[in-house]
Amino acid sequence: MKKRFLIKIEGTVQGIGFRPFVYRIAKENKLNGFVKNNPEGVTIEVEGEVKNLNKFLLKLKRDKPPLTKYTLFEIKEIPLKNEIEFEILKSEEKGEKIALILPDIATCEECKREIFDKDNRRYNYPFTNCTNCGPRFSIIQNIPYDRKNTTMKIFEMCPECREEYENPINRRFHAQPNACPECGPEVFLTDREGNIIEKGEKAIEKTAQLLKKGKIIALKGIGGFQLLTNALSDECVLELRKRKKRDEKPFAIMFKNLEHLKEYAYISKTEKELLLSPQSPILLVKSKKKSKLSKYCAPDNPYIGAILPYTPLHHLLMSKIDFPIICTSGNLSEEPIAYENEEALIRLKDIADYFLMNTRPIERYIDDSVVKIINNKPLVIRRARGYAPLPFIIKKNLPQILALGPYLKNTIAISKFNRIIVSQHIGDLDNEKSFNAFKKVIEDFKKLYEFKPEIIACDAHPEYLSTKYGEELSKNENIPLIKVFHHHAHISSCMIENRIEEEVLGVSWDGTGYGKDGKIWGGEFLICDFKDFKRFASFREFGLLGGDKAIKEPRRSAIGILYEIYGEKIFERDFEPIKSLTEEERKIFKSAYEKNLSIFKTTSVGRIFDAVSSLLNLKQKNTFEGQAAMILEWIAENYKGKLKTPYTFEIKKENYYVIDFVPIFEEIISDIKRKRSKSYIAYKFHLTLAEIVKKISQLTDKDKILLSGGVFQNKLLTELIFKKIKNKKIFTHSQIPPNDGGISIGQIKISYHNL
Ligand SMILES: [Zn+2]
Ligand SMILES: [Zn+2]
Ligand SMILES: [Zn+2]
Repeated sequence: MKKRFLIKIEGTVQGIGFRPFVYRIAKENKLNGFVKNNPEGVTIEVEGEVKNLNKFLLKLKRDKPPLTKYTLFEIKEIPLKNEIEFEILKSEEKGEKIALILPDIATCEECKREIFDKDNRRYNYPFTNCTNCGPRFSIIQNIPYDRKNTTMKIFEMCPECREEYENPINRRFHAQPNACPECGPEVFLTDREGNIIEKGEKAIEKTAQLLKKGKIIALKGIGGFQLLTNALSDECVLELRKRKKRDEKPFAIMFKNLEHLKEYAYISKTEKELLLSPQSPILLVKSKKKSKLSKYCAPDNPYIGAILPYTPLHHLLMSKIDFPIICTSGNLSEEPIAYENEEALIRLKDIADYFLMNTRPIERYIDDSVVKIINNKPLVIRRARGYAPLPFIIKKNLPQILALGPYLKNTIAISKFNRIIVSQHIGDLDNEKSFNAFKKVIEDFKKLYEFKPEIIACDAHPEYLSTKYGEELSKNENIPLIKVFHHHAHISSCMIENRIEEEVLGVSWDGTGYGKDGKIWGGEFLICDFKDFKRFASFREFGLLGGDKAIKEPRRSAIGILYEIYGEKIFERDFEPIKSLTEEERKIFKSAYEKNLSIFKTTSVGRIFDAVSSLLNLKQKNTFEGQAAMILEWIAENYKGKLKTPYTFEIKKENYYVIDFVPIFEEIISDIKRKRSKSYIAYKFHLTLAEIVKKISQLTDKDKILLSGGVFQNKLLTELIFKKIKNKKIFTHSQIPPNDGGISIGQIKISYHNL
């Protein structure tokens, strides 16, 4: 018996090879009808024999391509139309061209099987891919996404590849980077001077041998160069740290497979899924105590940044060695990663001993993404490969807005039709190379998305390079410029992510952020919507000597808070931060505070974390951003669940509610004197912050509480807040970073509502 079904699917279904997939399974099951995109997702009509329809439906649910997510799946029977074909119908939807620019996708199981299958023509071939996997964003030069518009255009497909490419029921139907050893790109190994040592399979074999000998290899991956070395060897890891000029910031580590990783770390079900996902990010997982990893991979850090092989090249290389390897971005600390062969030989010549390069050009660099699990849910903290540039779909069409993001962890964002696209992670705009990368990404997005800004949005901070760039662009091209306050942008980004339109209570806790009064805000409770915000509550202010310098020296925050409480006599007392100063420094600090010179007022919770860390003498100077606060979180975890009472704090009503931290610090100092354990104090401090969120949230009738800002990368704090607040709905981030990587998308909506 024949039937016809109308199927409506909403979710992430556009531009991820979904329609070809539907086409394929319809053909396989001898069904007729069509599939087409609609603004919310995909519409399918299929008819044929009932048993075939059932098989089709099963596959539609079970075998969907990677990155696909259904949020709605509706099916109803409709009258037969007796078509004789199954077709992919073109839709009139304007956003469609944009939707076709996809992230790079980790190697699928079938491709992986092929490269390890001696009888397959792609045996050992490091550029194997199909419609379900392989490079996308890193190779696309123009839309529409077609072979001739990618960096793969220089390779002409051999007849066999061509046939796969043109055959609608083949897995490689319209797989733009399709290639094989006959016709595709090739790997080769060079020394530092660029002399070729080996090619193809032998180059990979030789690289494995060199890693075993303790060498440092620069490998050209999917979105740029990576630096590899043996993660078990102290000598190798220390040498890499020295050459890369990276002190203690953790390195990501690649393990050959999940079983291997499990020898080194605890992996939950959610973590396993993420590690094996098409995004294949660096995932922060809890390391096992007796791990054989070099302690220099992530000094004093209970977590490791683990990643599994995600390209055929990584799979092939890792199959030849039996130890984990450091897999970190190919750059000198803080610079953008190198992604061209010639460029790498110059920029990385003092870091790498050998270069495993290849002939597939990378169109734009893209880092590995970094994710952690909070509340059993993924939280992207660096959004790049696998995630960018997947668009965020919104309800209404927007004008073309260019949002320039902040200063640290910069990303840019653009809006077109009903989509917002956030760029890959660019980095801190504190050096020329990063600023050039920032400008390049803007030009790239203009070209790639046929984007012409009608509005520019930037941070309100007058000194940010991104702000200055915006001012100039606005003046030169006569485009309106909207300045957006930093913390408003944070909450806006969280609203977009959670599809919230109404007024909320936003908790924006961060290290920095220019406020309406020109001071450094960072402990904010805002009542806001996209149009405007009101400061509902904040922390008591304290003074930091040297403003931004305090990011690098937690002791400056502690001194600021101590001064606020006790005045200048602190310079004669034996607090840890004071003891860490030289005699000379002590004089400078004292006189600066006395004369109120170069003292910047702040309410930053990031800095309050630093202050506690410094008082406990965990870290007086950071070797990477946020280090002191992280250490405080890690030691607090040891006390988890053992304590219920927070420190005392006061909330005073002024123009807005002011949270006074003085009692908190008085009690902390008394606990230090009584030699309470550092874990106890650190945990009690976390508990106190969660209690503060609860108390403030009770002062408003808003029932949606949004958590954003870099502080909410803190797992313990976030989970404590969820535990404490039961009568309101709490929203956090997942796909957009809570840190400043999310500022650009937040700026888009606010600027639109302030035209
Ligand atoms: Zn594949
Ligand atoms: Zn071929
Ligand atoms: Zn921020």
